[in-house]
Amino acid sequence: MKAMVIGIDSASPVLIEKWKDNLPNLRSIMDHGAYGVLKSIVPPESVPAWQCFATGKNPAKIGLFGFSYIGRDRKLKHGRTTPDLGCFWDICSNRGLKVGVFNVPGTYPAYPVNGFMVCGFPVPTRAAWSYPKTLMKRLDKAVGGYEIDVPVTKPSDLKGGEEAYLPQVDRLHTKCLEAAKALLGWFHPDVFMMTFQGIDLVHHDFWRYMDDQNSPYRNVLRDWYVKMDHAVQELRQFATADTNLLLLSDHGSAPASAALYVNEYLAENGMLKTNNHVKQSGEVLTRFRSWLLRNLSPETIARVYKISPSFISKRLTLSGSIDRVLQNLIDNISWDETKCFSTGGHQAHFYITNQNGDVAQSELRDKLINMMGQLIDPTTGEKVRPIFHLREDTFKGPFQDEAPDLCVELYSGDEKIQISPRLGTGKLWSLSPHFSSIHTREGFWALAGPNVKQGLRLDAGLLDLAPTLLQLLGFEGSSDFDGKILDSALAVAHPNGGIFSSGDVLVSNP
Ligand SMILES: [Zn+2]
Repeated sequence: MKAMVIGIDSASPVLIEKWKDNLPNLRSIMDHGAYGVLKSIVPPESVPAWQCFATGKNPAKIGLFGFSYIGRDRKLKHGRTTPDLGCFWDICSNRGLKVGVFNVPGTYPAYPVNGFMVCGFPVPTRAAWSYPKTLMKRLDKAVGGYEIDVPVTKPSDLKGGEEAYLPQVDRLHTKCLEAAKALLGWFHPDVFMMTFQGIDLVHHDFWRYMDDQNSPYRNVLRDWYVKMDHAVQELRQFATADTNLLLLSDHGSAPASAALYVNEYLAENGMLKTNNHVKQSGEVLTRFRSWLLRNLSPETIARVYKISPSFISKRLTLSGSIDRVLQNLIDNISWDETKCFSTGGHQAHFYITNQNGDVAQSELRDKLINMMGQLIDPTTGEKVRPIFHLREDTFKGPFQDEAPDLCVELYSGDEKIQISPRLGTGKLWSLSPHFSSIHTREGFWALAGPNVKQGLRLDAGLLDLAPTLLQLLGFEGSSDFDGKILDSALAVAHPNGGIFSSGDVLVSNP
C-alpha cells in the first residue's frame, strides 16, 4: 500500500501530548515520522475541513462552506464532495491507483472511483451509501448492520443520559473499525483514506468532566484516545514497508464557555430586523424529536431512524435541527430592513446583505468588528477575545462571493464561546451551551514513511498535507494548491519530484 490516511476527527494536539504515555502507537508514528500542530481552515468544521484537506484548497476554491449554509440567494445549501473538486484520491484514481475512501464526512452521494467509496455522515436513510452499490450488503453482513452515524447527539437529552449514550458511540466506532479492516482485506487499495468520528462525539459531550475528580465520566476522553490508539494499531497491520502513513485531525477542540445568540445581538444593535412575529416552523418536529429522545431507548431510536422514510428520520438528527434553524432564519428576517445576519456554531459567520445599500460595506464590517470586541462573557464578567477573519484574506477563489464577509472566533480565556444563530430567544446568552466543547483551528498531524524524516516536530497547515502526500506518491498534483509541500519533512523526495530537502539527511526506513 502506498498511502494510508487515518483521520481522527477533532483529535486535539494538547490531549495527545497530555496522554502520550498511554498512546504507544501514536507515539511510535510521531517518533518515526514528522508531526505537530495542524492549523485548520476557517471555518474549523468537518465539512468543509475534510474536503479542504483532501484537495489542498481553501473553501472558496472548491465552493464548500459547511454541511449546511445560507447562500447569497438566501437558499439553504448543503456541502457536497464531487469528483471535480480534485481530492487526492481522485488524482490517484485517475492515475490508475486503486483507491479506497471510507467514512469521510460529506461524501454522500458516493461516486465512481477506481476502487471503492463508502460515504461518511450525513447520509439520508434508505439512500445508497457506497460505490459500488453492492458493497452495502457485503459490509452490512460483515459487521452486523453497518452504521454511519448516531441518530442521537446530546446525551443529556437522552433517556438514560450519558450512560446510555456512550455504548452508542462505542458501537459506531467498533463497526467502523471492523468495516475498515474488512474493506482493506477485500480490496487491498494502493491508497486508503478514512475517518473515525468517536473522539469528536465524546469531546462534544464529555469534555466538561475531564477535570472533575468526582465525575464517573472523568476518564472518558482519555479512554477514547487509548481506544483510538488501538484502532490505529489494528489498521497499521495492513501497511507495508513502502506505505506513507498519515494521521490527522480536521480541527481541534476547546471547552465551550457560553453560547451567544448572535442574531439577537445584531437585532439589538439595529443590524437585523425580523418580521413581526418570529415563526419557528418545524418547532413541533423539534419538540417531537426531544420527546422521542427522552422517552425511547437509544436502540429503539436507532431502529426508528433506520426504518423511517428519509423526511422523518432527517428530523431525528442534529443536522436536521440545524437545517431548521437556518430555514427559520431565512423565513423570519425582514430582508429589506436588514444589513447583516450571521450563521455559525464554532464561530460566527457574518453576511452583510445591506439591501438598501445606504451604508458602505466596509463601514458595516467595521461596526461588526467593534461590536464583537465589546462583548462581555457573562460567566466571567471579562471581555471576550475575538479573532477576526476577513473575507478577502481568508477565502480566495471563484466562489469568494458565496463566502461570509467576516468570520469571528470568540475566546474567553482558554474557553471558546459557541455561536447560536437561533432567532426569537429574547436573550443574548445561554449559560448552558449545547456542546461541552467546540472546534478550534488547532488540529494534529503525524506522517511516517520511507521518505519522511524521523522525529521531526513541525507545525503545518491543513492544506499542506495533500500536496505533500502527492509529492511522496510521485504525483505532481495540480498547481492550484493553496497549501505547500512540506519540503522540510521529506528526507528525500520521490525520484519524479527530484528535490532534496533543506535538511538533506537521508533516513532509512525503520
Ligand atoms: Zn470534524
